[in-house]
Amino acid sequence: MPDLIAIENARLQDELRDHIGRLQEANRQLVISSVNARELAEQLHAAQAEMVHLAHHDHLTTLPNRRQFTKQLADRIAHAGAHGCKLALLFIDLDRFKVVNDSLGHGVGDLLLQAVAQRLAASVRGTDAVCREGGDEFVAMLADVAHAEDVSARVAHIHHLLTAPYTIAQHVLHIGASIGISIYPDDVADLEALMRSADIAMYSVKEHGRNSFAFFEPPMDVRAMARHHMEVSLRNALERHEFVLYYQAQVNLASNRTAGAEALIRWHHPTKGLLLPKAFIGIAEECGIIKQIDRWVLREACLQAKSWQDAGYALETISVNISGQEFESADFLQTVFSTLNQSGLPPQSLELELTEGTLMRDSAATIEKLETLRAAGIRIAIDDFGTGYSSLGYLRRFPIDTLKIDQTFVADIHPGSDDVLVDTVISIGNRLRHHVVAEGIETVEQLDFLREHACDTGQGFHLSPPLPAAEFAQALAGNR
Ligand code: C2E
Ligand code: MG
Ligand code: MG
Repeated sequence: MPDLIAIENARLQDELRDHIGRLQEANRQLVISSVNARELAEQLHAAQAEMVHLAHHDHLTTLPNRRQFTKQLADRIAHAGAHGCKLALLFIDLDRFKVVNDSLGHGVGDLLLQAVAQRLAASVRGTDAVCREGGDEFVAMLADVAHAEDVSARVAHIHHLLTAPYTIAQHVLHIGASIGISIYPDDVADLEALMRSADIAMYSVKEHGRNSFAFFEPPMDVRAMARHHMEVSLRNALERHEFVLYYQAQVNLASNRTAGAEALIRWHHPTKGLLLPKAFIGIAEECGIIKQIDRWVLREACLQAKSWQDAGYALETISVNISGQEFESADFLQTVFSTLNQSGLPPQSLELELTEGTLMRDSAATIEKLETLRAAGIRIAIDDFGTGYSSLGYLRRFPIDTLKIDQTFVADIHPGSDDVLVDTVISIGNRLRHHVVAEGIETVEQLDFLREHACDTGQGFHLSPPLPAAEFAQALAGNR
């Protein structure tokens, strides 16, 4: 009997332990799930806060974004209107930011934008507001302006702060800023017009040499309209066959013979006459039409060169300028190959001129493209060499054939000068076994200097200006 009782007791105890164990487990789960629920609620809360922040701020710089800024500006305008005071709106665009981004990489570019944002935010007062408009553009509002004249000193101070050198990832960067200013209510009476006027004033600073600031003036509006008209007529120019190519000789300095030609675009504008690239290439790049223009130039130049070769002229190469946008197009290689096919020009007769900035943008993809082009026999030149952020390291990495020394270096060669810079560039080119072309030769002294320093090829007004096709053919005839 006692045994049975003992057994029953033990069973009950086991059951009880089991029960307690289950209870404890259930309790533990309960605690865990309540902890989980709390964590979840906290996470949700943080995510919501983050979303609210993201909706009102620029993720890169954490400055208020345009939406948030516009709200602040509207409030301030209403306040200024009610109290009869003024406010100033600043449109700020960094100068040549793209060069930094392209040559040092987006990482450095992003850090620079963050540093600029910090300085900008620190340069204004509590009642003011700043925002990142996008890219390398910032906007600032200076509230409580008593006189428009006071703004000048404050903007000069902001400009000074923004353009002091930056040290980023071991690079010391000097960046300029162009600032356009509009004043409410002096210039305009509403928010949109205030923004537009500051933007127009900023463009005017860019046009007049950058890295400065200017107040909006009504004549600027007229110029902005003119620019708009230019854009519209540019869009029609291709269909209306208003573009024409001029050809400038590239002369072999040892033999004095024309070895090649560079195709340079001109625009027969319906009302303005013959326009040089600097009057329209910039606008064409901004509105994206440059790609179509480049394709037209490539086709026209290849057809022309082929017809000269067929006519028996000794023209070895035709050089064509390619914009960064066109080079980066997904179908660029295809465009080049089909153009060569259709024109029948041998690939060895085509040289593509790319600037340092274009090459630096995405070096892995660039090298691959260049290798494909060169494998097909097409030549690659670096145009305006020495004006970008080129390093000798990158020169070695890119598969190229030709270095074109920028004209600014050639212009520095004076009678009796011992120009080390040009000399060095020629030596580097020769050592890397690149073909070296000097651009912008205007005097006999420059020509002699380059010849003495073993520069292969020369191009410039002293040798020949760019000529229409028929005149260039005449000059070539003497070269046959
Ligand atoms: P670039 O490729 O460096 O072309 C050389 C420029 O120097 C040409 O100006 C030429 O007329 C000018 N030049 C030649 N010899 C001399 C000289 O002795 N002294 C001086 N001061 N200048 C000289 P252009 O034709 O006005 O072209 C300017 C730039 O426009 C070109 O610079 C090139 O970057 C761009 N460009 C021209 N045609 C095209 C094109 O078809 N497509 C693209 N994307 N860009 C083009
Ligand atoms: Mg060129
Ligand atoms: Mg050049």
